[in-house]
Amino acid sequence: MKVNQVELVISAVRPEQYPEGDLPEFALAGRSNVGKSSFINKMIGRNSMARISSKPGKTQTLNFYKIEETLYYVDVPGYGYAKVSKKEREAWGKMIETYITSRDQLKAVILIVDLRHPPTNDDVVMYEFLKHYGIPCIVIATKADKIPKGKWQKHLKVTKDTLQMDQEDELVLFSSETGLGKDKAWSAIKSFY
Ligand code: GDP
Repeated sequence: MKVNQVELVISAVRPEQYPEGDLPEFALAGRSNVGKSSFINKMIGRNSMARISSKPGKTQTLNFYKIEETLYYVDVPGYGYAKVSKKEREAWGKMIETYITSRDQLKAVILIVDLRHPPTNDDVVMYEFLKHYGIPCIVIATKADKIPKGKWQKHLKVTKDTLQMDQEDELVLFSSETGLGKDKAWSAIKSFY
């Protein structure tokens, strides 16, 4: 998909602020610094649409990016950033929970994990949370360019097993550096609308 039009429609905290209309929404989740902004930028062919974070975990809003009048990417603040207070973490959890459990337009969550390492405990908790609420999940295993090709399958298996992934959920090998997996990720997203 060639994307010409991208618009940050709103940075929302409360449901009243979510955009109106019924375009399908795809939330992007992942721990801080995993490569979420690089993923979204690669997918839409931009260099700097979503801020590439220098301070991980800083954004504490849900950012709704409208893509080509077709769908929304909803950037969820990264989790697992040690320097936020307990209170901030609770507020974060509540904001995500409200959005994920109540938003009809949400079609799937795109969970970004690092292919190099087994998913973290936070990744596992996030995946379990989604499954608990029956939300489809597309798992993107990014930074594939950082490990040799010969190890990809082994690492993919560790990712799948650690998350105890459902059969129906797709796992996509990805690299924001090389563009590997971009078409597969778009197909996975498009299968929901
Ligand atoms: P975010 O905090 O999750 O939005 O993470 P960023 O997109 O800002 O990425 C964090 C760091 O990882 C940056 O230095 C990126 O350049 C780097 N990065 C992200 N994705 C990839 C990738 O696929 N390959 C490589 N080699 N580096 C990546």
